Amino acid sequence: IGEDLKNELVNELCASTPGFTPPKVKEQMFYKVGLADAVDLFRARRVFIKDGFAYVPFKEIDVIVLNNYRTKLSKALALTARSLPSIQSDERLQPLLSHLSHSYVGPDYSVGKNAGKISLEQIDALCVKSFPLCMRQLHRALRDSHHLRHGGRMQYGLFLKGIGLTLEQALEFWKKEFIRGKVDADKFDKGYAYSIRHNYGKEGKRTDYTPYSCMKIIMSNPPSQGDYHGCPFRHSDPELLKQKLQSYKISPSGITQILELVKGMHYQLACQKYFELTHDVDDIGFSLNHPNQYFTESQKLLSGGRELKKEFNNAGNFQQKNNSQESINPSATPTSSNATADTELEGLEAYFTED
Ligand code: SF4
Repeated sequence: IGEDLKNELVNELCASTPGFTPPKVKEQMFYKVGLADAVDLFRARRVFIKDGFAYVPFKEIDVIVLNNYRTKLSKALALTARSLPSIQSDERLQPLLSHLSHSYVGPDYSVGKNAGKISLEQIDALCVKSFPLCMRQLHRALRDSHHLRHGGRMQYGLFLKGIGLTLEQALEFWKKEFIRGKVDADKFDKGYAYSIRHNYGKEGKRTDYTPYSCMKIIMSNPPSQGDYHGCPFRHSDPELLKQKLQSYKISPSGITQILELVKGMHYQLACQKYFELTHDVDDIGFSLNHPNQYFTESQKLLSGGRELKKEFNNAGNFQQKNNSQESINPSATPTSSNATADTELEGLEAYFTED
């Protein structure tokens, strides 16, 4: 509604909208919506009603949007249920339908523009700051045992490809690590290099493979004994998950929230909560569907966060934020100090804040 109408109704809006005073009415936007759309607010006596219209403050408008969405969704579901038998009887559509709920339709995070933007020296620091738990687990296992089995090599290798490792870097990265274990250089070149080149579309069918989405990781190829791939929120024993989160300095209340989400089988929401807790934000601001999305969003956030941190440090009043940032880092910085990590990550800002 316009300012004139708002001024005219200021007393009524104050009296009928809980928590509103005349100055607050002046600064808030109000929407005039049909009473039928605001029944819940009307029933709870939270809005002013006049001539069949409700005057809804901005902070309550989500209730209206939600109701509208719910109505449209239930109509669409009813229509779908009615059409389903005839669609299912068409054998051309059957495979499409049965894969629909498992398919991932977001960006594929193929290497493309990212290639070569990351150096091998940055990986340990990036792992602590910006890898989702699944990739952090794989990286840790690789560094500790100097080996990963096939499922882990595929999941982690394609993720690294997505964040920007070139084929040459990937060969160097895996070889360096494997030859520290039981595999010698010759065996690596004969046995493992092929599959890395294969992932980059240089062998076999020459398919340029893309990193796995959360859905794929959660729904297929569960890890067996000795495997480290999969999604820790889906595939780890809750007690082990709890210990892992404790070792990463997640607060007890944060761990409880994550475990509740895991119990309700909301694995990606649990991962979003992990993101919020490790990045010290209240709302993740995106819907998580892909480990590479996690990485990109983390880098975007940390780039902005770092500038903010500098500003606040200059002003000398950023103690709390600075502490919470530090509480993330010591948890698993195996080879680099925080300062080194920051230096190593310089230059990535522009890259991850684009698009
Ligand atoms: Fe990885 Fe996705 Fe599981 Fe998070 S939800 S740990 S990104 S698979």
